[in-house]
Amino acid sequence: MSADYWPAVLDTLQTRLRKQQFDTWFQHVDAVEDSDDVLQLQAPNSFSKDWLATHYRDAIRDAVTAVTGKHPELSFKVKPLDVTDAARPPADAKPAATARSSHVTASPRIETAAVDIEIRLNDLCTFENFVVGPSNNLAHAAAIGVRESPGYTYNPLFIHGSVGLGKTHLIQAIAHALLNESPRPNLLYMSCENFMNQFIRAVQKGDLENFRLRYRHVDALLIDDIQFLSKGERTQEEFFHTFNTLYNAHKQIVITSDRPPKEIPKIEERLVSRFKWGMVAKIDVPSFETRVAIVRKKAQLRRCLLPADVVEYIAEHIDTNIRELEGAIIRLQAISSLSAQPINLNTAIAALSESILRERRAISIEDIQNAVVGHFRVKLSDLQSKRRTKSIALPRHICMYLARKLTSYSLEEIGGYFGGRDHSTVVHACDNIDKGIKADPERATTVKMLTEQLRNGR
Ligand code: ADP
Ligand code: MG
Repeated sequence: MSADYWPAVLDTLQTRLRKQQFDTWFQHVDAVEDSDDVLQLQAPNSFSKDWLATHYRDAIRDAVTAVTGKHPELSFKVKPLDVTDAARPPADAKPAATARSSHVTASPRIETAAVDIEIRLNDLCTFENFVVGPSNNLAHAAAIGVRESPGYTYNPLFIHGSVGLGKTHLIQAIAHALLNESPRPNLLYMSCENFMNQFIRAVQKGDLENFRLRYRHVDALLIDDIQFLSKGERTQEEFFHTFNTLYNAHKQIVITSDRPPKEIPKIEERLVSRFKWGMVAKIDVPSFETRVAIVRKKAQLRRCLLPADVVEYIAEHIDTNIRELEGAIIRLQAISSLSAQPINLNTAIAALSESILRERRAISIEDIQNAVVGHFRVKLSDLQSKRRTKSIALPRHICMYLARKLTSYSLEEIGGYFGGRDHSTVVHACDNIDKGIKADPERATTVKMLTEQLRNGR
């Protein structure tokens, strides 16, 4: 029987998600109470089933809890054929809001194509504002090459590197530069998620032709965070054909990813090999000198006066993520304006030491493995193996759970540390431990103790 609280859950989700996300993914989803503690979600097709399970599991679970106070486990199914939408009031017939970005244009020749690009280019992400150093000069030079001869010299350009190192900045810099050319090219810049949203919507509406018209007739296609293409065979297929069409027509393709092509989970080999046809450029963690230059640049852009010793203090202590360098400047600026005092080294140390200490003490997966190995007296190699015996499954699940709670690794990355398991195994492990904590005080204590031990760096 359909869960009677589902409409209220949908209302909650609607207020929490962007309209386009909600309209794309939730309009045709039903929920059936399997048993007291399992809620079965029924999606209209297997693609949206997978997408919901991967991307919206937490959001759905939170909304269910908000409405019912319960914590049911979620299962995802394709809606059986005899369950139709007939009983449901007709969905608002209009497609989702279509906001045309002023910066990013789709082909104006294609009037019928829905344009709903959510990402706007950030005006600050330009080549002028990009500091070049040994960690990024290859990617930067390739990006300049794209600007000079789009579609020819470096095609595709594939930029990869870990979070906060400037991939989005660089791809947007290319977009800005190309859009300044005259005649202005038809350029499409979007996140991979958006590409997939558009695709699935086109499939649902039976409107693939327009989708193809739109994507295969651009002068440049720039896709950020392609690692999310890892799910959904049909989108890979579609992307593959889009890629070929554009490539053969010498249209520029730029892609970013948080990892190199071959490490993108579940990506088809033929796409990997195409990504490598052009230029693959890695961005590394910036050196001290580059960090100093970046802090100066950011401070200058924010009109924030920082003495040289403060610049060096920040650059010395925050060394892995440029976004955090910027966060430090923002923080100092706020403190200085609140206290109406200029920033000096002492105020900077007082203001930043906490976040710096936190960064220093960042918990690694190795720390977690060591703690769990010590606690359960199991072998590290067993944790990392594919063995499924119960005695090793529990410690392994706890590791995954702790990694999810205490580190910023992605589900895929965590799975990779434990015998190359995929994200759904990690999700399952976390659910499992969550349930265990609620049901079993002893389990709760173990997890709490390990968490504290790790947080205190012991
Ligand atoms: P990513 O997409 O790799 O996660 P972003 O491009 O969003 O990282 O960069 C994070 C922040 O760091 C942005 O504010 C960006 O402007 C800044 N940044 C990164 N690299 C540089 C650089 N070389 N010069 C200036 N700013 C940079
Ligand atoms: Mg990015």
